[in-house]
Amino acid sequence: MLRRIAFVIFFSSVALNFAWLGFMSFDWKIIPAALIAWYLADALSGVIHMYMDYRPCTENVGLGQLFFYEGSRESEEYLSMRRAAMARISFFERVVFDFKNHHPRPLALGRRSFIYQTTSIMVFVFPLSVLLNIVCSLWTLPSWLLVGLDVLLLGMILTQYFHGTLHRDDNPWIIHAMRKTTLLMTPTMHDIHHATLDRDFATINGWSNPAVNIIFNYFKQQGKMDRSGLEPN
Ligand SMILES: [Zn+2]
Ligand SMILES: [Zn+2]
Repeated sequence: MLRRIAFVIFFSSVALNFAWLGFMSFDWKIIPAALIAWYLADALSGVIHMYMDYRPCTENVGLGQLFFYEGSRESEEYLSMRRAAMARISFFERVVFDFKNHHPRPLALGRRSFIYQTTSIMVFVFPLSVLLNIVCSLWTLPSWLLVGLDVLLLGMILTQYFHGTLHRDDNPWIIHAMRKTTLLMTPTMHDIHHATLDRDFATINGWSNPAVNIIFNYFKQQGKMDRSGLEPN
């Protein structure tokens, strides 16, 4: 219930940021601004995904046992192990674990509710949305800038939802239409990440994957991307 109330407040803030667009006049620059923002949202999804995949989990708190558990994940034994392990780590650490846990069990993300997929993102994006509310109430931003910021905000909020659609067959028509225009990536493109775990981290449209791959390879050469970080102990 508390989570639903938080979502209503969050989306009211986001809706207010979009409502300011109603007071704007048309400017051709809003089109490149929206496309650049869509690219930036994709790049953010890739860089954050890359960091979460390779950041080592806290050791010896039961995350390894959860990750490699071979029985049913619906069983009381697994659920109580999960509750105990999650109680020992921070909210951020839970998100890190979820990223790693997604690799061997990708379909689970597709089955999650929109609220589950978006809660961790809301925690980080809510302050940014409120900041934009305040800026817009004090100043009149150029329309191209407001469109860009709104598109970036929307891309960040929907990142894990879009990621979930890549692991599910049953999706709304708009997802399929956006894939045809390359505004969203296809499951085949995302499969490359799951097959390698060392490239193509972006999960919205994949436009930024060449750049994010360069960043990844740079850190890998510096010895910062050890594959041991991909699995908890
Ligand atoms: Zn990954
Ligand atoms: Zn995935």
